[in-house]
Amino acid sequence: MEWWVSMPKIELHAHLNGSIRDSTLLELARVLGEKGVIVFSDVEHVIMKNDRSLGEVFKLFDLIHILTTDHKTVTRITKEVVEDFASENVVYLELRTTPKKNDSIGMSKHSYMEAVVEGLRAVTAVDIDFVPHKFNTQDSLNSIAMNDACDGTKKKKIYVRLLLSIDRRETTEAAIETVKLALEMRDLGVVGIDLSGNPVVGEWNTFLPALKFAQEQGLYITLHCGEVLNCQEVQPMLDFLPQRIGHAIFFEEEEWRQLKTSKIPVEICLTSNIKTESISSIDIHHFVDLYNAKHPLVLCTDDAGVFSTSLSNEYKLASTAFGLGKKEMFELARTGIEFIFAGDEVKQDLVETFDSAAKKLN
Ligand code: 5GP
Repeated sequence: MEWWVSMPKIELHAHLNGSIRDSTLLELARVLGEKGVIVFSDVEHVIMKNDRSLGEVFKLFDLIHILTTDHKTVTRITKEVVEDFASENVVYLELRTTPKKNDSIGMSKHSYMEAVVEGLRAVTAVDIDFVPHKFNTQDSLNSIAMNDACDGTKKKKIYVRLLLSIDRRETTEAAIETVKLALEMRDLGVVGIDLSGNPVVGEWNTFLPALKFAQEQGLYITLHCGEVLNCQEVQPMLDFLPQRIGHAIFFEEEEWRQLKTSKIPVEICLTSNIKTESISSIDIHHFVDLYNAKHPLVLCTDDAGVFSTSLSNEYKLASTAFGLGKKEMFELARTGIEFIFAGDEVKQDLVETFDSAAKKLN
């Protein structure tokens, strides 16, 4: 097995509906095609298309949501996505998703999230820990050692925590509803809030009351920040002091300075940035600047399904493009532990997992 696959990894920026297997999407499309809800042949090439602009990506998400937004399917894709990450030795996953309402099938934001949690419960291929320890009464779930999980001698184990996404199309009230739901579901592994959705839609001030409320209530926060050129937003987002930000592409000089001083960790999604042409070539990716400045950063997939990637692939890509060796990449993965939205007990367990894997690195 290649080292970028076998080494333990931490995934902190993965959107549930962007991480679905193509085979599952095609199967779902075929079923809806047979029911006459969509025309399969029209949809097939959209799903299989490889390179898309950022605008096209959001059109694809509208299609994906038509295919996936029912309780049974949400449960299925959650299970599959977790098992796929675990199969490439992701040992800690923060999975984010936008709670959805669909009155025509009796779906509320709450029932959507219950279907997600059901998907976590349905994971069988690996041992999963998704309930924060202070809420967990089932000791057995958390007592399985992760050491050696990557060498095949024990069943693999993955920690999963959930982030609820606020979509930039939403109103202040809808965003507050999502934060309230996150607070209600803390005992089921919801640890934070993400702000995402089409970056050319919506305004920061619309989401600020909900994000402030989340911050006051002690939820962790990560923001999609600087995905497109928007002089109004980056500064207030950095002033807000989220625990992490995603992407950080279109920053002015002063904003770079502020980011570096603040030490806010950045979730870097290389393939996503290149495929959407947010960055024209990997040689000029800001990974290099941030890495050289020892700024906290973590490699992530964004949408492994939509961008046909995997976390292993992101590590391989960074290694090749930036001339970093196995050891440097391993250390980069390990530093991700510091930026996870989980407590010291989980961090300590992950440190032991990485220590154990480090002994077998050569
Ligand atoms: P979901 O929240 O439905 O599980 O995952 C898909 C959603 O995540 C998309 O509809 C969009 O709101 C958000 N998303 C996925 N990828 C990106 C991205 O690259 N940038 C932004 N801003 N949002 C994204």
